[in-house]
Amino acid sequence: MKFALVEGGRKEATPASRGECPGCGASVIAKCGTKKLWHWAHSSVRNCDRWWEPETAWHRGWKNEFPAPWQEVRCIAPDGELHIADVKTEAGFVLEFQHSNISPIERASRESYYGSMVWLVDGGRLKNDLPKFQTTVQAAPVIDAAPLRLLMHDRANPLVERWAGSRRPVFVDFGESQPELPFIADEQVLWRLQYLEKTNNVVATPVSRSSFIGYFRNGGRLRGYRLPQLRARPTMRSGRRGFENYMQRKEARRRRF
Ligand SMILES: [Zn+2]
Repeated sequence: MKFALVEGGRKEATPASRGECPGCGASVIAKCGTKKLWHWAHSSVRNCDRWWEPETAWHRGWKNEFPAPWQEVRCIAPDGELHIADVKTEAGFVLEFQHSNISPIERASRESYYGSMVWLVDGGRLKNDLPKFQTTVQAAPVIDAAPLRLLMHDRANPLVERWAGSRRPVFVDFGESQPELPFIADEQVLWRLQYLEKTNNVVATPVSRSSFIGYFRNGGRLRGYRLPQLRARPTMRSGRRGFENYMQRKEARRRRF
């Protein structure tokens, strides 16, 4: 973890320092080597949060996009179950940064534990995920051109399939590499996946990375992209109206997403 309690304040690890875990109060020691990010680790082997995953540079980079008091926030359920959210915004929204694989059961339990949350997934973990996602993007029917929203099947490619059944929005971060979309300039993009309950449909929306951060930091708008006129619009006339009505009802029920 990035922060521990040292003399009552939240401090980052420095060589040979000691502190207390903000989660359980156990003693933690600073790990300040050359291979891994400087971090704190419990002196005893076990971590108090069983959902904890080893922190990568990708995790740390994302945490650092948000104010320090929002990072690694201790959350306790009414039954006493304790977890540390990667980021919890002032408005109470939890952002979970997920690098390693997670089982559908564990995913569902985190979604119900945190309630208002989104997933941010490291799309660079497996090298085949991006090219396969790219193939799906190229073939996907267009639901809306502005902002662009594509329709995918929840088993269209391994990454989308792995998150199938998620009840919260999933944002995929492919980092510097991106599915090729000529109309998206060099800006970094996240792919928002919304799995529609009781269907195999997924709505995939590219949004700008900086607008994602702005959305959670200061209530800005998520910014999508406009499909240029030069790309012929695939026909979705049949069933389109019904699908859009479905989406509208769906979105009306979700307060913020
Ligand atoms: Zn602890």
